[in-house]
Amino acid sequence: MKILLVEDETKMAQLISRALKEDIHSVAVAHTGPEGLDLINSETFDLIILDVMLPGITGFEVATRARKRGTKTPILMLTARDAVPDIVAGLDAGADDYLTKPFSLAEFLARVRAIARRGPLSHAAQLKFNDLVLDPATHEVNRGGRRIDLTKKEYMLLEVLLRQAGRVVQRDHIIDAVWSNEESVENNTLDAFISSLRNKVDGRSATKLIRTIRGVGYRIG
Ligand code: CA
Repeated sequence: MKILLVEDETKMAQLISRALKEDIHSVAVAHTGPEGLDLINSETFDLIILDVMLPGITGFEVATRARKRGTKTPILMLTARDAVPDIVAGLDAGADDYLTKPFSLAEFLARVRAIARRGPLSHAAQLKFNDLVLDPATHEVNRGGRRIDLTKKEYMLLEVLLRQAGRVVQRDHIIDAVWSNEESVENNTLDAFISSLRNKVDGRSATKLIRTIRGVGYRIG
């Protein structure tokens, strides 16, 4: 594969690029956000590996601008910490997968191979559970083929739950992911949004998908 690596830390860039070359990939390295974006706009890559914290513009911004220009190349985002808002922001910006630093090179190469197998367009992969479908590419939500209109916050809330379908998502994680930019969130705000989301998603179906795990959080399925 022809891979673009956008990473400002020289040592990290060398380490990753060497490992990729040993795994028989060709690698171009950019050290700033704008430099990365220039390369994305002028050449075609099979995979883009994007650090979040970059000089110039962030990795989120690079991904958003690349997707806006129609780049369908898979993006693997490297996030500095295991923060839910970072991960959600990265996936929202159009990343296909993320890896939290520090990571092992073996795991990194395994992720690269997995993304390569999926091929282009995978960023449009829909999130599904039962008859509920959320499309991150179009922000459309359907249940049993019926379109569900959600507000921005309801959509974000549903996406956080669907990405972890089958698992309990803790209240704090949800609040971090959906209300991270706001100074304070009333304790009952989440409950109110869950209630309206539940109304729209489960209101007309016999099978209820959004479950409350009292005192802990919420779960789909
Ligand atoms: Ca960095």
